[in-house]
Amino acid sequence: MTTAHQDISRVTSAKLFEKAKKFFPGGVNSPVRAFKSVYGTPLFIERGDQAYVWDADGNKFIDFCCSWGPLILGHNNGAIREAVAAQLDKGLSFGAPTRLENELAELILSNNSYIEKIRFVSSGTEAVMSAIRLARGYTKRDKIVKFEGCYHGHSDSLLVKAGSGLVTFGETSSAGVPQSFAEETIVIALDDKKAVEEVFLRFPNQIAAVIIEGIPANNGLLLQDKAYMAFLRTMTEKHGSLLIFDEVITGFRVGFQGAAHHYGIKPDIITYGKIIGGGMPVGAYGASKEIMAHISPDGGVYQAGTLSGNPIAMVAGIATLSQLASPGFYEKQEQTTKAFVQTLKSYIADKHYDVQIFTVGSIFWFAFTTQQRISRADQIDPQSMEKYKVMHRALLNQGVYFGPSGYEVGFISSAHTNEDLETTIQAIKQALDIVF
Ligand code: PLP
Repeated sequence: MTTAHQDISRVTSAKLFEKAKKFFPGGVNSPVRAFKSVYGTPLFIERGDQAYVWDADGNKFIDFCCSWGPLILGHNNGAIREAVAAQLDKGLSFGAPTRLENELAELILSNNSYIEKIRFVSSGTEAVMSAIRLARGYTKRDKIVKFEGCYHGHSDSLLVKAGSGLVTFGETSSAGVPQSFAEETIVIALDDKKAVEEVFLRFPNQIAAVIIEGIPANNGLLLQDKAYMAFLRTMTEKHGSLLIFDEVITGFRVGFQGAAHHYGIKPDIITYGKIIGGGMPVGAYGASKEIMAHISPDGGVYQAGTLSGNPIAMVAGIATLSQLASPGFYEKQEQTTKAFVQTLKSYIADKHYDVQIFTVGSIFWFAFTTQQRISRADQIDPQSMEKYKVMHRALLNQGVYFGPSGYEVGFISSAHTNEDLETTIQAIKQALDIVF
């Protein structure tokens, strides 16, 4: 047991938070930012550059939250900044088509063998919400199947959680979601083929779509076997339902073609967000020409947006994805992440600490458990989050910023240098010595 470090000053952040509470519910504009699951007041960030952020008290952190995933190139990337600055001179929004939308779409579609047409929206939530409507409109069925532990944004149909038992439905996890909406969403456990079989038996010809995160990464990192994902493909095909991969996190993160390519499985609809806008608000959904033909104005499924395809967001997306499309980008990211995780795993093994690190691409997740495999949400012990809380505090005190919840994954960007990662490894070792 090592003694804890002195806490960093958060005096200014605390003052700003008190003021923010007057304006915003809980003092924030998105709940997890309130730091409710970890120690202390939320950090108010002043600026970011490369792998670092600075808070209002002048503390500098190596950032592994990366704005919850979008910043795969780190903060203040030169090419993105220049592209946005150049576009500022031309105008912010026109509500009319621009060549920039074509450019971003071409960059994506010419490098993607899983979708043929795409529609840009302004957030991941909007992308998934629209994909669900498209699946319902296309199949003329109402029910959707989602998995416990998968987050798909905050639209009504998807704010439904699983209770105990094989198949749970009709239980909302947010006030304000009508029971009748929730009843159309069936929630089953991940990594359970029998649950999938039962759901199709129980609701024949009623399921419009099965939606799953490409690689579930919102409730810890719940890695799924390729065979299980292939089984979902087979079952959806057999029963005339669509398979939706929500790639808001995994899209352009585990490879330019995301989880679909990672498994070599072609879903019917794919949703994107986060990285696709390089830090600006962008989401997208894509599918075959045939399925996308059902979207308005040509098809009967309505979907629109005042700021969809916003020029500033488009140029940020183009500048980001152009860099990601360069040969070797993802291989390097993966190698760097593997080496980082392996060094820590060796330390953990030497010390016999009960903590695992799960990883894919440049995503990693610390799980305080002895279990070597966690593929379902119910395999996570909520008590283990207390240990994450201690680790998070110790990391902040050493200038390392992880997401403020033990259910959140970490991201390594191309801006993280070997030196940053070595500093972080030393900080994590010390933090683990404090935890245990
Ligand atoms: N889908 C997944 C897999 C996500 O991780 C998120 C957000 O974290 C969303 C959808 C919603 O995206 P947004 O927060 O941009 O609305």
